[in-house]
Amino acid sequence: MKILLLMSSVPDTTSKINFKDNNTKFDEAGIQFVINPHDEFALTKAMQIKEKHGGELVVLNVGSAKTEPVIRKVLAIGADRAVRIDLDPEDSYSTAVQIADYIKKNDEFDLIFAGKESIDYNGGMVHGMVAEMTGKHFVNAVIGLEIKDGGKLEIAREIEGGKEIIETTMPVIIGGQKGLVKEEELRIPNMRGIMMARKKPLEVIPPVDAEVRVKIEKFEKPPVKGSIKLIDKDNLDELIDLLHNEAKVI
Ligand SMILES: Cc1cc2nc3c(=O)[nH]c(=O)nc-3n(C[C@H](O)[C@H](O)[C@H](O)COP(=O)(O)OP(=O)(O)OC[C@H]3O[C@@H](n4cnc5c(N)ncnc54)[C@H](O)[C@@H]3O)c2cc1C
Repeated sequence: MKILLLMSSVPDTTSKINFKDNNTKFDEAGIQFVINPHDEFALTKAMQIKEKHGGELVVLNVGSAKTEPVIRKVLAIGADRAVRIDLDPEDSYSTAVQIADYIKKNDEFDLIFAGKESIDYNGGMVHGMVAEMTGKHFVNAVIGLEIKDGGKLEIAREIEGGKEIIETTMPVIIGGQKGLVKEEELRIPNMRGIMMARKKPLEVIPPVDAEVRVKIEKFEKPPVKGSIKLIDKDNLDELIDLLHNEAKVI
């Protein structure tokens, strides 16, 4: 089984987000980067499939050299080798063009895992575009995946208020998310993995020409939340007065 993981390197979920250059750029100063959390669920599922069925797991990232520590972490967790397309991504389309070009030139993967969306720009577009550009099947928001006899896939998707179970065949692009594996199954690199990761191949390839179709005009933070007023549970008159005269909601 040949598996490709599309991995986006994103700010740690606890990061304090700031913008620079007149609110047009994300300020990376002091930010710790991590594996996109949805991609982490996909990575663990990919590892479990590799361990059960054998094969190779390759991690692919479109990013500058800054993403290499995060790529090495994926190698330490268990990917066999890595490919970095040397481009600081600027929009979803041009990122997808790079990934699709790599897949077309290396059309050997049965399963291509991605996350449901990146947690920084929240596009939820790259994997769908890659599927269209490469002509592969695509299933997003996947919370369960089983390989059946004969190579068919049974996939569970999260839908409003329940699950949708579908069947498809490989090669397929899977957008994984929380639920694809149990949280306690998520892996952290151990010392042996970290040592081995240093020796695993990390190939850096140049980007192909790709049009950037969307440009950010500016970012805005949500308005700062007002302070909280605590009211005694027996003081209904004060509550009504505040709702009426201050919050003006009744
Ligand atoms: C309008 C816009 C402007 C942007 N400008 C910048 C910028 O100036 N600088 C910058 O660094 N980034 C920028 N980005 C983000 C950059 O394009 C992202 O790396 C990439 O496009 C993912 O963003 P997304 O939210 O569309 O991904 P999504 O479509 O939400 O990602 C879905 C999945 O695709 C895969 N994937 C996504 N990105 C990558 C990647 N880079 N490599 C491998 N797999 C990937 C992952 O599995 C991910 O879970 C921008 C994004 C947008 C939408």
